[in-house]
Amino acid sequence: MDRIAVVGAGVAGLAAARRLVLAGHRPVLIAPDIAVPNRGETLSPKAATLLEALQWPHLLDADSTLLGEGRFSVWGDATLRKAPDHVGLGYHLDRAQFERLMRTALFTGELERVRTGVTAIAHRPDGVELTLADRAVISAPAVIDCTGRAALSSGEAAQRRRLDRLIAAWRVLDLPDDAETVPATLVEAVELGWWYMSPLPGRRMMLGLFTDSDLVPTGVARDGVRWAGLAAGTIAIAPRLASLGLEASAAETPPAIAPAASITVGRLIEGRIVRAGDAAATLDPIGANGLATALWSGTQAAGAALGLAEGHADAGAAYERDYLQGVAHQLATQNAMYASEPRFAAAPFWRRRQIKSPETDHKERFT
Ligand SMILES: Cc1cc2nc3c(=O)[nH]c(=O)nc-3n(C[C@H](O)[C@H](O)[C@H](O)COP(=O)(O)OP(=O)(O)OC[C@H]3O[C@@H](n4cnc5c(N)ncnc54)[C@H](O)[C@@H]3O)c2cc1C
Repeated sequence: MDRIAVVGAGVAGLAAARRLVLAGHRPVLIAPDIAVPNRGETLSPKAATLLEALQWPHLLDADSTLLGEGRFSVWGDATLRKAPDHVGLGYHLDRAQFERLMRTALFTGELERVRTGVTAIAHRPDGVELTLADRAVISAPAVIDCTGRAALSSGEAAQRRRLDRLIAAWRVLDLPDDAETVPATLVEAVELGWWYMSPLPGRRMMLGLFTDSDLVPTGVARDGVRWAGLAAGTIAIAPRLASLGLEASAAETPPAIAPAASITVGRLIEGRIVRAGDAAATLDPIGANGLATALWSGTQAAGAALGLAEGHADAGAAYERDYLQGVAHQLATQNAMYASEPRFAAAPFWRRRQIKSPETDHKERFT
C-alpha cells in the first residue's frame, strides 16, 4: 500500500502516525517545524491509558508533567472550594516537552517526514492529492487531517459551526525561588468570563483569562498592567498571585491571545480524508479534554484511514459516530458547567451561554 499521509504534527498527528507505525504501516508526516506555544495545559487522567495503548507510557515523565493534586474553584457563589479528590487528578503538562518526547520516540526511520505546510487537499478516485507549500504534489491512498483549528480539509460538507467567540489572554510566569506551591489548578468565574491558574513543570505557573473576543476591555491585549489589573478584584486568583509573589511579574508584559472557541461539525470523514483532534472539532478548554481527545481521535483516525486506504468505504463509520457522540456529551457538560454560575447572569459572557438546548441556534447567543 502507498503511504497514508498525516498532515499536522501536534498531539493528534503524532498519535495518528504512531498508531500507523505500530500497525506496520510507514506513513508520511507532513507539517512545518513550528514551535508549540507552551501555555501550560492539564492532561486528563484518561490520557494514561491512551498512551499505554500507543506504547508510550514513559512520555509522562517528570520533565513533561506534574501529577495533579486537585482542583480549586470559585464558581457558582463566592466561596473557594476544592473539588472532590477524584476530580482534577490529571497531569499538568509542559506541552512543548511532551510533544518533543512524542517526536523523538516517533522519528526512528519508520516514517517519512516532510517539513512544510500543505496548501490544498483534493479528492481523487482512488485516494487524495496534497499540494505542498513548495508546490510539490503528493498522492496518498488516504489522509488524516490533524491541522488543528485550521482544519485544512474541511469545506461546506463538514458543517462546521462556531458556537462562541472564546479567546484566552494568557501568560506563563516563573515562580520565585522561595514560592511554595501545590500542583493544583484554580478556576474562578468573573463577570467577563473565567480565570485559570495552573502550574507547569519547571516551577512555572500559567495564568489565563478566558473571555469572548468582543468583550476584551480596551488595551488589555497590549498592556500587561491592565490585564493583571483585571485579576486584582478576584476572590481567589488575586490572593494566590500575591502569596506566590507573582503580582509584579504578571503585569510586566502583555498577555498572548489564543483562539479558544468551540466548533462543532456534522462530518469527520469525506471520501478518504479523516479529520482528528482540533481539525475535527474543538471544545471549550473549561473541559480540559482537548489533548486527550487529540490522542484518542488520532489513534482512531489511523485505524479508519487504514481501512479506507484498502477500499472499505465505511471504515470510519464507528469512529465518526463515537466522536460526534463524545462531542455532544462534552457540550452538555460544558453547558451545565456554565449554567451552574448564576451570579453574572445579566453579563454578556454568561447570558450568551444560557443555552436551553444544544439545538439553540448559535446566533441567539450573540444577540
Ligand atoms: C488557551 C487554551 C488552553 C487549553 N487548555 C487545555 C487544557 O488544559 N487541557 C486540554 O486537554 N486541552 C486544552 N486545550 C485544547 C488543546 O490545546 C487542543 O485541543 C490540542 O492542542 C489539539 O491538538 P491537535 O494536534 O489537534 O492540534 P494542534 O496542536 O493545533 O496541532 C496542529 C498541527 O497542524 C500543523 N498545521 C496547521 N496547518 C497546517 C498545514 N496547512 N499544513 C501542515 N501542517 C499544518 C501545525 O503546525 C501543528 O503542528 C486548550 C486550548 C487553548 C486554546
